[in-house]
Amino acid sequence: MPLDLVTIPCLKDNYAFLIHDTATGATAVIDVPESAPIQAVLQSRGWKLTDILITHHHDDHIAGVAALQGATGARVWGARADAHRLPPLDHALTEGDSVTIGAETGTVIDVSGHTIGHIAFHFPESGLVFTADSLMAAGCGRLFEGTPDIMWASLAKLAALPPETLVCSGHEYTTSNIRFALSLEPGNAALISRASKVALAREDVRPTVPSTLSEELATNPFLRAALPELKAAVGMAGSSDAEAFAEIRRRKDRF
Ligand code: ZN
Ligand code: FE
Repeated sequence: MPLDLVTIPCLKDNYAFLIHDTATGATAVIDVPESAPIQAVLQSRGWKLTDILITHHHDDHIAGVAALQGATGARVWGARADAHRLPPLDHALTEGDSVTIGAETGTVIDVSGHTIGHIAFHFPESGLVFTADSLMAAGCGRLFEGTPDIMWASLAKLAALPPETLVCSGHEYTTSNIRFALSLEPGNAALISRASKVALAREDVRPTVPSTLSEELATNPFLRAALPELKAAVGMAGSSDAEAFAEIRRRKDRF
């Protein structure tokens, strides 16, 4: 039985996610921008929170952890590398570690770049990856602490997951990300059709997250930095993949 997945809008443009194992009742949240919307969903579904999974230390991902942990007694999991700047951890994680939620085991992937210590959680049986501010819908996080080389290596790990994987990222930034992507690839048919799908969703105030990895591979300029057409679009035809990625990220920062 795959885990149930619920996407919960928080704050202005953040997402938290609940995963729930029906067989055991185990329920985890990934990131806690604020506690109240998550507690409301737990209550309406009749689920008891057992685990809190943290992707990185930014306030918009952890501000509600103390309140939610206090209300539920859930175990807290986060990166060992970030333990000094995260709420108290019950389980300190490094790449390759396992996180067990009910009957399903997830794996920790180091996706540093946005911050050093940012982790993603991959649940292969359910086909879910929680990427927060690393790989995002049609975009990627800003490089606050990591270099382009580090982020490019992190994105490569995510790009190698099965293409049907659902990418559960941390923000509703898709509209502006797609506007930027179209500026680089105005003729990309998959991107053009994604743009209209996203516009419709946002008109109805529906989340555009999660997306599928295959959708990201076809439309996300940061995952596509190694392709000749993307390199050409940013004037980096003779450059390495990581250099082309760096230039795409620089252009997005100024866009
Ligand atoms: Zn962040
Ligand atoms: Fe964030």
